[in-house]
Amino acid sequence: MVNSERITEEFMRQAAISSPSLQEAEMAHYLENRFSEMGAEIVYDDAAGKIGGEVSNMIARFPGSKAGEPFIFSVHMDTVVPCENVEPILVDGVVRTAGETILGADDKAGIAEVIEALEVVREQEIEHVPIEVVVTIGEEIGLVGAKNLDYSLLEAKRGIALDTPGVDWLVRRAPGANRFRFEVFGQAAHAGVAPEQGLSAIEVAARAIAKMRLGRIDFETTANIGTIEGGLATNIVAEKVVLTGEARSHDADKLSEQTEHMLACFEEAADELQREIDGEPVRAVVKSEVRPDFPRMSVPENAGIVALAQQAAKRLGREMRDRLGGGGSCDANVFNENGIEMVIVGTGMQNVHSTEEEVAVEDLVKVAEFLVEVIRAA
Ligand SMILES: [Zn+2]
Repeated sequence: MVNSERITEEFMRQAAISSPSLQEAEMAHYLENRFSEMGAEIVYDDAAGKIGGEVSNMIARFPGSKAGEPFIFSVHMDTVVPCENVEPILVDGVVRTAGETILGADDKAGIAEVIEALEVVREQEIEHVPIEVVVTIGEEIGLVGAKNLDYSLLEAKRGIALDTPGVDWLVRRAPGANRFRFEVFGQAAHAGVAPEQGLSAIEVAARAIAKMRLGRIDFETTANIGTIEGGLATNIVAEKVVLTGEARSHDADKLSEQTEHMLACFEEAADELQREIDGEPVRAVVKSEVRPDFPRMSVPENAGIVALAQQAAKRLGREMRDRLGGGGSCDANVFNENGIEMVIVGTGMQNVHSTEEEVAVEDLVKVAEFLVEVIRAA
């Protein structure tokens, strides 16, 4: 069924094409030819003009051989840098790079898997509903292609994004933001009579905030302390302060890193301002509450698309495992916001966004096999 040589060659051919964000013209040209020769109608939207790209988002429409609700595969054609002159090599069944570059399995493994699945569907004459392959630009610089995609060009209201590491992983939810509540407890005392009997919660909170990276952290990550309240009177060393804040990121790893950082600042401040009162060590107590927020993507467990993915895996004697976030932030977030029910599925890529990036041929094959069953069941 799935041809492991063909999919490996397909992937390596794509990996060798340099396609940093907003410089995807060569990659688009290659894909346009590839999809056209497979019988797709190619359309572009007008995203390039809005965001200054070389080329716009591409939609390859494969007409259905049976009637039914159309289906989307979502992938992106850009990669992170360094991606000049990528030299993919195959060693012991694993594709890596020879040079000092990324491999670009993120997201070209996904593109190659979709292409291979469609090749098999054509060869085996498997009946299928209309399929729309959406290949976006600028995913790696804040999902700007998907955000500027012309959704009126899409008919489908459901689909799968191929854009997370590992195999047989299914991501339904991606943490776009965390909300915080910090309660700092010090020790009250009369500020004029016996300040040495007190430990100021306000001082601890202030020290923690002064240590904190806040505001714009990077192009896709922000953080804020939004409210602060506490203390009782000018002559009382403040016993309690309550702060609330948030962190947001399009990248799940960065979100958890920023979250950890903010929590750590409070603990460090409490350590630093620890003091002895009546011969006893007294340290402020910090109660940190983190509430994950999923405004960008939350597909219910009982959604049709989840059942479809499980059904496809089952036909292969496999099972899709549910993973929360963890690198699960991609174009699918934006598709869901635009009324398209979409989950993210693992492509087999590993160590993405690094020069150690790799993908095993066996995994490329496994994912392509899964996609064939998805198309059959859709
Ligand atoms: Zn990606």
